Amino acid sequence: MSEYLASRLRGFGTTIFAEMSALAAATGSINLGQGFPDEDGPDAVKRAAVEAIERGCNQYPPGIGVAELRRAVARHQQRFYGLTYDPDTEVLVTAGATEAIAAALLALCEPGDEVVTFEPYYDSYAACVALACAGRRVVQLRPPDYAFDPDELRAAVTPRTRLVLLNSPHNPTGKVFTREELQVVADVCLEHDLLAVTDEVYEHLVYDGEHVPLATLPGMRDRTVTISSGGKTFSFTGWKVGWVCAPPGLVAAVRTTKQFLTYVSGGPFQYAIAVGLDLGDDYYASFLAGMRERRDRLCAGLADAGFEVFVPQGTYFVTTDIRPLGERDGLAFCRALPHRCGVVAVPNVVFYDDEAAGAPLVRWACCKRPEVLDEAVTRLKAAARG
Ligand code: PMP
Ligand code: GLN
Repeated sequence: MSEYLASRLRGFGTTIFAEMSALAAATGSINLGQGFPDEDGPDAVKRAAVEAIERGCNQYPPGIGVAELRRAVARHQQRFYGLTYDPDTEVLVTAGATEAIAAALLALCEPGDEVVTFEPYYDSYAACVALACAGRRVVQLRPPDYAFDPDELRAAVTPRTRLVLLNSPHNPTGKVFTREELQVVADVCLEHDLLAVTDEVYEHLVYDGEHVPLATLPGMRDRTVTISSGGKTFSFTGWKVGWVCAPPGLVAAVRTTKQFLTYVSGGPFQYAIAVGLDLGDDYYASFLAGMRERRDRLCAGLADAGFEVFVPQGTYFVTTDIRPLGERDGLAFCRALPHRCGVVAVPNVVFYDDEAAGAPLVRWACCKRPEVLDEAVTRLKAAARG
C-alpha cells in the first residue's frame, strides 16, 4: 500500500483480478480467475471495428456516444425488455460498465450518503462508493441459493440511504434475482424514495430463469440507472464499451461526471458494438448455449474434484466451497493453487465485508474452451489426490 494514497482509498490496494492474472502469467497456469473468454466474439463485430478504423472514425466521438450505438442500445432495450428509451436524451455511452458505475455513484451521492448493495459484491462497488465519500451497507446473499432476507434489506435502509446498487445476474455468485426478489427491492426503493443503479453486464448469460431488468417493474423506470456493456455479450472484454439507460435527468447527472473522467472512449469500437447489439436471435441463442455447456462442464468437473459446487444460474462464474477438501482459507488456497497444480481461481472473501462468510468460497471462470476447462479439472483432481 502506498503511503501517498488518499485515506478514502486505503484498503483498496491491487484488485484481486490483477493479482491473480499476474500469478497465472508468472506460473504459466490456466487462468480461471479473471473473467474473460479465451476466444474472440463474432467476426461481423470484429470486422465492423476494423471497418470503422479504416473509414476514419478515429477522432473523438460525441460525449454521449456515437448515434449508431445509442440507437442500437435503445433498440436492444425495446427488443429484449419492452423498455423505451430516447437515444438522444436517455442513453449515454461509457468506458465499459466500470466507468458507468463510477460516474453514476459520483454523480448521485453526496458525501455521507449511503449506498445499499448485496454482498458478496463486485470489487469496484466498494471503491466507487468510497470515491464518492459515501458509506456502504450490505445485505448478505447466502449459499446455497444466495437468497437474501427481505428484513435485512429493509434494515439496511437509513435516512441517509441514497440508492440501491443491484447486480443481476450477479458476480461472483452467478445468482439471477427472481421477479419476486426484485419486487422486494423495488418496494423498498419506492417506499423510501431511493434511486436504483443496476449492473446488468451478464444480461445475456442466464442459464436458468430469466433476466428481469429492475427498470421494468412498476414505478422503477423513472428512478433506475440501468448499466450494461458489450464486453461479456460479445466476448470482447478488452474493448470497454458500456452504456447507461435512464430518464433524462439521471442521464444528464451521470454525463456531467463522465465527461470529466474519460470525456469519451473507444470510437471505432462503439460502431462495432452497435452492429453486435443488432445481431439476430440466433447469435444470442448460440452464445448462451455454448456458455451453458461450459458452465455444466466446469460444475461437473469441480464436483468430481471434491468441491461443493453452487451451480450458477447465470454469468461467467461458478462458486465452490473448499471445506470438503479439508481447506478453510480461500485466499491462501488461491495463492497456493498455481504453485501446487497450475490453476488460478479467485477467493470470494475479497467480495465480502463479512470475511468469515466469504473465507471458504472460491470462484472459477467457466468462459474458457472446453479442453481448457477439462485440463484444469484434471490438474485439480491430481492435486486433490496428491
Ligand atoms: N460489473 C460486473 C458485475 C462485472 O463482472 C464486470 C466485469 N467485467 C464489470 C461490471 C465491468 O464491466 P466492463 O468491462 O464493461 O467495464
Ligand atoms: N469482471 C471481471 C471478473 O469479475 C474482471 C474485470 C476486471 O479485471 N476488472 O473477473
